[in-house]
Amino acid sequence: MEKITLYNTLTRTKEILEPIAPPTVATYSCGPTVYNYAHIGNLRTYVFMDELRRVLKYAGYTTKSVMNITDVGHLMSDADDGEDKMQSAARKSNKTPEEIASFYSAVFFKDLDRLNILLPEIIAKATDNIPEMIDFVKALVDKGYGYETDDGIYFDISKFDEYGKLSRCNLEEALAGARVAVNTQKRHPADFALWKKAEPNHIMQWDSPWGKGYPGWHIECSAMGKKFLGTRFDIHTGGVDHIPIHHENEIAQSESLEGHQVVNFWMHGEFMLVDGGKMSKSLGNVYTIDDLIARGYSPLAFRYFCMNTHYRNKLNFTFGGLDAAQTAYDRLRSAISACETAPKADKKTLESITKIKSNITSALYDDLNFPLALGELWGLSKLNCREAYELAKDLDAVFALNLHIPPEVKKLDIPEEVKALAEKRFEARKNKDWATSDALRAQLDAMGYTVLDSKDGYEIKKRN
Ligand code: AMP
Ligand code: ZN
Repeated sequence: MEKITLYNTLTRTKEILEPIAPPTVATYSCGPTVYNYAHIGNLRTYVFMDELRRVLKYAGYTTKSVMNITDVGHLMSDADDGEDKMQSAARKSNKTPEEIASFYSAVFFKDLDRLNILLPEIIAKATDNIPEMIDFVKALVDKGYGYETDDGIYFDISKFDEYGKLSRCNLEEALAGARVAVNTQKRHPADFALWKKAEPNHIMQWDSPWGKGYPGWHIECSAMGKKFLGTRFDIHTGGVDHIPIHHENEIAQSESLEGHQVVNFWMHGEFMLVDGGKMSKSLGNVYTIDDLIARGYSPLAFRYFCMNTHYRNKLNFTFGGLDAAQTAYDRLRSAISACETAPKADKKTLESITKIKSNITSALYDDLNFPLALGELWGLSKLNCREAYELAKDLDAVFALNLHIPPEVKKLDIPEEVKALAEKRFEARKNKDWATSDALRAQLDAMGYTVLDSKDGYEIKKRN
């Protein structure tokens, strides 16, 4: 097993991974709330989860990874306000929450598959683990951390001295930051729901010591983490938005119950932006993998696009950026697959290959530095020998880009009119006339064609 360093949000430093029970590394990743399609930002976070798991495996560890599927309890606001997202989606589409969950879960797993994301060993559905959640809440109440109000059971954050240690905000700040309590029976505005008592019209409800109800979103992850990975495990992942509420609350629940640290490493993937800003339905910039495919891009070009930015940096999505990633990705695959029939390497080239392999693994074992590793892979692709192909094929266990398979060459009959417009656009670009170039792109787009720009040319693609 190789030495790996990972950035721990808890300590704000890179630390050497020392698994609790080597060679196994136990990881828990917050999974999707299955009330809608996963967008490309969500999927970036799962590409990050996959980068981590694949690097661990490549370094000789065995992974025991859990990802949950939230199919109940995630309210409209992460801080316990509003309707349950599942119930709201069900109401709007006249379906049951189970139907909504099974439809969007299936699409989610299809997206993971298209992105070559390996399924974690354990997929845990919240609704399959309600008894464990009830036991967890009961134990917290018994220990004095939970208290009952008319609408549920709440966690008293003032009882957990270390509240705020992950996001580095102190209790006073947490209290000041919390919105004025809707529920005046809460002891502190920032106390959060462990269990909610169900209104009569709430579709999903289970018997509990506090009457019929349903779990809070945060308790789901604490209870499923404990059930599948035990009271101490190695790594917990999620997006950076989870740091201040969801993960802070998970820590408070789990550590209050166990009386010790439960997770050694907290790792967070930075956000994806679109055109420099937030993704939102009102801006019409929330894209799914299907949207990208419809515009002629391959899911693995999106994976390449994600891996080209370190998981701890923000990634700005633009179609121009994805065009460049698609072109680069196709070229890399062409170059590597062409090495399959190339001659054997001479001594000097073999030395270069050894060096590249060592550079790639050092980059990956240094907090998953995929951008650096991809740069080295480009160097490898230029060596034009059979051994370069063999190494790239081996490394695909970690890059998961189908590197050794040549990209499909789509033979297209592009209408003359489209070719002429694309050429006009190319000229406009050369003259830095971006307004004309954008207008022509829009025109081509409306005709069903996408132009992929590269450094010194372009390619026309018909959308499927
Ligand atoms: P959700 O289904 O809302 O619980 O989100 C699923 C995962 O996607 C969580 O780990 C979030 O942190 C993550 N996420 C949400 N929005 C973005 C974004 N714009 N960029 C990256 N990750 C995101
Ligand atoms: Zn979670």
